[in-house]
Amino acid sequence: MADAYQSGILSTNHRSEPFMQMLKTTIESLKDKLDIPEGYEVYFVSSATECWEIVSQSLVSTSSFHIYNGAFGAKWMEYAQKLRPGSKGVSFEVNEIPTVELLTGMTNEDVVCVTHNETSNGTALPVSFIKGLRQYTDKLIAVDATSSMAGVVLPWFSADVWYASVQKCFGLPAGLAVMVLSPKAILCALAMNDRKYYNSLPFMRENFQKFQTPYTPNILAIYLLGRVMEQVAPIKQISDSIQERAGNLYAYFQDLGLRLVVQNGAVRSATVIAVQMEKNELDEVKLKARQEGIILGSGYGTWKDESFRIANFPAIGLEEISSLRSFLARISSSF
Ligand SMILES: *Cc1c(COP(=O)(O)O)cnc(C)c1O
Repeated sequence: MADAYQSGILSTNHRSEPFMQMLKTTIESLKDKLDIPEGYEVYFVSSATECWEIVSQSLVSTSSFHIYNGAFGAKWMEYAQKLRPGSKGVSFEVNEIPTVELLTGMTNEDVVCVTHNETSNGTALPVSFIKGLRQYTDKLIAVDATSSMAGVVLPWFSADVWYASVQKCFGLPAGLAVMVLSPKAILCALAMNDRKYYNSLPFMRENFQKFQTPYTPNILAIYLLGRVMEQVAPIKQISDSIQERAGNLYAYFQDLGLRLVVQNGAVRSATVIAVQMEKNELDEVKLKARQEGIILGSGYGTWKDESFRIANFPAIGLEEISSLRSFLARISSSF
C-alpha cells in the first residue's frame, strides 16, 4: 500500500497510460501465476455477487441450471431467478459425490452453474465432475470459485466462466473480483450482445481490450493484486502445499476427536475446513479462542450455529496454523 501511494498510481485516472500499463501487467502476472490458458480473458469487477448477475444478464437469454449443495450455490440460484425467472436447479447432499446424472432434469437452460468450493459447508467439487459436465453438455459452464481460485489448481479448460472475489484465497482486502472467460463464453456474450448495463460483458470487453475499465475501478485493489501475483509461487506449487496442509489439518482434527462436517474425504475442500460442533460447546470454544486472540470463523447458512470454519488460505501462515493446532489440543479434553 505504501508503494502504491508513493508511485502516484492512486492519483492517476483510469484512462491514463500509467493505469493502463498497471492493469496490463496485473492481468499478465495473474494469468501467468494461475496458469490461465491462452485465449481466456480476465476482467475485474467488484464482487462474486456481481458475477452472479453478470452471468444472468450477459450469458443467459432464458434460464440457467444450478447444481448446488450449500448456501452459496443456493443464493446464486436465487439471484439468477430474479433476473431470469425460469432458472432452476438441483441440490445434492454434503457427503454425496456429484455425478452428471444431476443434469438429467435440465431442459433447455443456457448455462450450467456450479460452485467449485462451497464455502458454507467445506465441500469441493471433484475435478472429475467438472470434466464430466464438459463431456455431458455443450452448454456454457459457469463456476463460482470464490474460495478456491488462487488456492488450488483449477481445470480451466473444463468450464467457460470462472470467478472469485479477492478476499478469500488471494489474501487481499475485499472489494475486487476476478472474472475469467473462455473463448466460447466470449463468443456467446458477443452473440447475445447484452448492452443494457454498465457491467454488460461486451462493454466490459471493449474496455479491457484497451486495458481500461467501464467505470473508475478500485485502483488500489488492482495494484495490490498485481503486486501479490508477482510475489506468489506458481499455482501448482501453492496448490500442493495447500492440499498437504489440509490433509494434515483434517487428520489432526480427527485425532483430537472433533467431528468434521464433511465425512466423505472425496468431497472435502482443501481451502475451507468445517468442523461440526453442538451449539453450547461451540459458544464455549469460540469464547476460549477469543480470549487467546483467535477468532474462529462461524458457520454459514444451515450450518451457522453448528460449525466453525477454518480458512486454509495461502496467506495464512504456518505460525497461525500451529497456534490454532495447539489451542485446540489444549482444550481438546472437553470435546
Ligand atoms: C464469499 C463467497 C461469495 C460472495 O463473495 P462477495 O465478494 O461477497 O460477493 C460467493 N460465492 C462463494 C462460494 C463465496 O465463498
